[in-house]
Amino acid sequence: AAHSGSDPVRGYAPSMGQIFLRRFQLVTQFRSALETGQVTVHYQPKIALPSRQVVGVEALVRWRHPEFGPLDPDEFVPAVEATGLVDALTSFVMEQGLQRVRSWLDRGLRMSTAVNLSVRNLADANFPDLVAEALRRYDVPPQLLTFELTESGVMSDPERALPVLRRLHAMGVTLAVDDFGTGYSSLAYLRQLPVDEVKIDKSFVLGMGTDLSDMAVVRAIVELGHSLGLTVVAEGVEEDSAREQLVSMGCDVAQGYLISRPLSEERFEAWLRARTIR
Ligand code: C2E
Ligand code: CA
Ligand code: CA
Ligand code: CA
Repeated sequence: AAHSGSDPVRGYAPSMGQIFLRRFQLVTQFRSALETGQVTVHYQPKIALPSRQVVGVEALVRWRHPEFGPLDPDEFVPAVEATGLVDALTSFVMEQGLQRVRSWLDRGLRMSTAVNLSVRNLADANFPDLVAEALRRYDVPPQLLTFELTESGVMSDPERALPVLRRLHAMGVTLAVDDFGTGYSSLAYLRQLPVDEVKIDKSFVLGMGTDLSDMAVVRAIVELGHSLGLTVVAEGVEEDSAREQLVSMGCDVAQGYLISRPLSEERFEAWLRARTIR
């Protein structure tokens, strides 16, 4: 993976000027990268517990940069999010995801795609219209599109975000709270939002095997989520023991390297075929 901070392998830390320059380059190059196929979407499956049936995927953006090599989203998404370009990013990922859902439906598979939203999408009063138009164009039931939002994304401007979320929810789109447990006012905020799903932050799930307090947090979120009528998803499931513990807690859905890493479209389709045709 690429490093954004100091690089222990090459033994130097980039200067502020270098960091700024690279960030500037990434932002100015992003649109043409979208248009020339450098930016792609990878898919990571989510499975139901305990059945292990594939219920959907999370769509995760990737950038194969001609000079810097493969970039993780943590390297360029924050830079892109600070500009209006994030609209183009979200649309691109949503379009790719809906195309997948359409193709699965055509093969008799009912699977959803989850797309990560940015603060800016939630501040855009036109965003729900854009989504409705895309759903019509791909003829996809709204329930098969999930948007993942973070607490900071909603709470930075709740006056603008809430009407957008309410409209998406009224359309039947599935809404999920991402990285749950890492914010400050999580409980109060969860009750106020029109959401269907809560994703337990991977830090707790990863720590479950060695840290009893992480285990307690995961159990508490599963119970809290269920008491609010929400689907509970655990991400960062790397160990079979974690999957077993989640099953025993009644967690509904698992996502993580144990099931699969995020895969290119082609490799994901191969993974899916190997899994469903037997
Ligand atoms: P996220 O939404 O929390 O996505 C989950 C991240 O956890 C992904 O990193 C995924 O590869 C990683 N992950 C999945 N399973 C495991 C596991 O078992 N163990 C560990 N250690 N990690 C696991 P990725 O793809 O690098 O994405 C990082 C973040 O970038 C995402 O975090 C999300 O916030 C953001 N992002 C990715 N794609 C998009 C996008 O299309 N739009 C926006 N706005 N943000 C995106
Ligand atoms: Ca996510
Ligand atoms: Ca997450
Ligand atoms: Ca994250």
